[in-house]
Amino acid sequence: MSEKTRLPRLSLGCLGGTVSMQPASPGKGITPSLEGDDLLAAIPQLAALAEITSVTLCLLPSASLTFQIMLDVLAWARCEVERGAQAVVLTQGTDTLEESAYLLDRLWPYDIPLVMTGAMRAASQPGNDGPANLLAAVQVALSINSHGRGVLVVINDQIHQAAHVRKTASMAMAAFESPGCGLEGCVVEGRVLYRCSAAPRRVLAPPQRCDQRVALIEACLDADIALLETIPALGYEGLVVAGFGAGHVSAAWSEALARIARDMPVIVASRTGCGPTAGATYGFVGAEIDLQAKGVYMAGMLCPRKCRVLLWLLIGQSNPVVLPDWLAH
Ligand code: ASP
Repeated sequence: MSEKTRLPRLSLGCLGGTVSMQPASPGKGITPSLEGDDLLAAIPQLAALAEITSVTLCLLPSASLTFQIMLDVLAWARCEVERGAQAVVLTQGTDTLEESAYLLDRLWPYDIPLVMTGAMRAASQPGNDGPANLLAAVQVALSINSHGRGVLVVINDQIHQAAHVRKTASMAMAAFESPGCGLEGCVVEGRVLYRCSAAPRRVLAPPQRCDQRVALIEACLDADIALLETIPALGYEGLVVAGFGAGHVSAAWSEALARIARDMPVIVASRTGCGPTAGATYGFVGAEIDLQAKGVYMAGMLCPRKCRVLLWLLIGQSNPVVLPDWLAH
């Protein structure tokens, strides 16, 4: 057996994003254009680590990715595993990475890792981080210690769990954090180090349909309820509110949410960016005790954006919607 055939097989799927961007012509803004093989060509070290096949699944800025595209990406990744890939890596834009990683994580059925990465600097910029991030992502994907951890986001030599990762800076190189939870691990001199062993995972069945729509609205000071009230008539089937503090809204919003919750699942998360919603602390109208009594769910640790992804998946699975018991009611 040759050296080459003894290497693990890894599949790379590329979706676009800054990691694949460069200006179409000098002086123009950057747009996605580099294919998977172009990304691999910038990292000769990879040839010694794995037999990598790459596919450009799309070339989009991540703001234009959709749930349907991510389900197609999932189908491709599953197919690669069924065909013998020992690890799968995806590159995409960083702007929606926290949401797409969470969606894939809820549906990824294997112990084999699915690792996602991107870049904050374009391929055409000095000091671009794409090659280093892709190398680290491959190293994480190939580590036996990554098994059973679901979807991981590897960026800036840090490993984040899909459920916790957030983009917390718009332009900084260190743009990703897992607020309140900390890193899952890190990559040091090519070694993949984890802080703790893999935790049990809850994997959902894929949705039966994709036409459901879930609204996400942020509570803010002195906001009226006009927008909220339009939601049922617009055909939305679920609502997530990014609430104040521990998951709170105004008294007027509380009444509006009570009305909406009679027709569809309503979940209130925290807009703070870190920490859980409360369950039984505050007694004012619009706080968690009042909201739960009105049929509203509290998101717990899940941030509003990931909560919307979860609700979209759950609505697509069953009618009536079954919400998991760890969402406090
Ligand atoms: N700034 C973004 C990125 O990091 C653009 C995108 O999300 O595609 O890739």
